[in-house]
Amino acid sequence: MLIVQKFGGSSVADAEKVRRVAGIIADTYCEGHDVVVVLSAQGDTTDELLEKAAEINEKPSKRELDMLLSTGEQVSVALMAMALEKMGLPVVSLNAWQVGLSTDSNYGNARIRKISGERLRRELDKRRIVLFTGFQGINRYDDITTLGRGGSDTSAVALAAVLRADLCQIYTDVEGVYTTDPRKVPSAKKLDEITYDEMLELASLGAKVLHNRSVEMAKRYGVNLEVLSSYVRAPGTKVKEVVKQVEQMRISGVAKDAEIVSIAIKGVPDEPGVSFKVFRALAQAKINVDLILQSVGHDNTNDISFTVARADKDEAMRVMEKVVETMGAEGVAVDEKVAKISIVGAGMVSGSGVAALMFEALYDEKINIRMISTSEIKISVLIDERYADQAVQAIHNKFFGK
Ligand code: ADP
Ligand code: ASP
Ligand code: MG
Repeated sequence: MLIVQKFGGSSVADAEKVRRVAGIIADTYCEGHDVVVVLSAQGDTTDELLEKAAEINEKPSKRELDMLLSTGEQVSVALMAMALEKMGLPVVSLNAWQVGLSTDSNYGNARIRKISGERLRRELDKRRIVLFTGFQGINRYDDITTLGRGGSDTSAVALAAVLRADLCQIYTDVEGVYTTDPRKVPSAKKLDEITYDEMLELASLGAKVLHNRSVEMAKRYGVNLEVLSSYVRAPGTKVKEVVKQVEQMRISGVAKDAEIVSIAIKGVPDEPGVSFKVFRALAQAKINVDLILQSVGHDNTNDISFTVARADKDEAMRVMEKVVETMGAEGVAVDEKVAKISIVGAGMVSGSGVAALMFEALYDEKINIRMISTSEIKISVLIDERYADQAVQAIHNKFFGK
């Protein structure tokens, strides 16, 4: 079999952990499999590099930031190669340039365009273990790009897709995908399997156990994906197209996203076209809008509120200040202390009362809902950030018990 294994930052944080992971890789290789390994930067390296940058320049160019951040993964693969060399195994570490992983030029959040699998295949033909730097790519100017925080998962799935690997294993610091973050809610339950669609929603709605684009790609190319622990040798969670319906499992999980802000435009004239103008301006600035609420104001005006990613806050405010001026609205305000809590489940369509149960959990805790949005397989609410963890716990208790 050809197996792609990805190890996250915490799994390779220090020399001892590097050796432990080398053991997992060696075992897989010695069972006769071809192995491609994707590594993240060690421990909190990426955050530390960001801090270093901020000490020098509080607004560095995204190009230079990617040049800096991509170094973390390079350290990891070189050290892992040395660990495997010491065990007498044939190994080679490669970066994005060597593997020919090209992306668009959106520094800091680049999308993979193409991977030339040639070098990878050549190395595998020589029965070498290939170690690849996650998170990074090369754009058309031959500059280094990065795929966005948590992007090594996507590097791994992309390699698995190109090589038509039999399996893509994402090793992390928990035993799989749980019904909610097991570090926050100890009663969270491990899922044996989950569909691509549900996993994609969970990942997009804040469960950072998998990078959402990795799930998107796994679905598109039918990559056999598994999330498992690099500490405990036990079956993890399989992510696939269809899963056995677990009886009475109305939802698969609860997620929290506090990396968002809510922006309100006050006193917008109540006439056709205003929403169009607001959201067109945001679309032109390539800002994704999530929850939207229009409420009736006073004197023939409305208030329009919406949420955007925290990273887009400054740009969104800049764009909105202009729109407010041209539209003759009263003003614009931002609220940073908000969080989005979501439940996800394919069984939601058929089962009635799922929304009521979620809202009841919040009512029991006297938590006020500020915005609601629903789709076939998810329900999200916006609440005060202070109550976010309490809300996740309460909703989780309601659906899965204490
Ligand atoms: P890695 O460094 O291996 O990429 P991450 O920190 O990116 O690891 O992701 C693993 C973490 O995701 C876990 O430690 C856990 O706290 C968090 N997490 C959030 N939601 C979930 C969930 N539903 N299931 C499992 N882990 C989750
Ligand atoms: N090292 C990068 C990050 O911390 C990529 C990753 O870990 O997936 O975001
Ligand atoms: Mg991760």
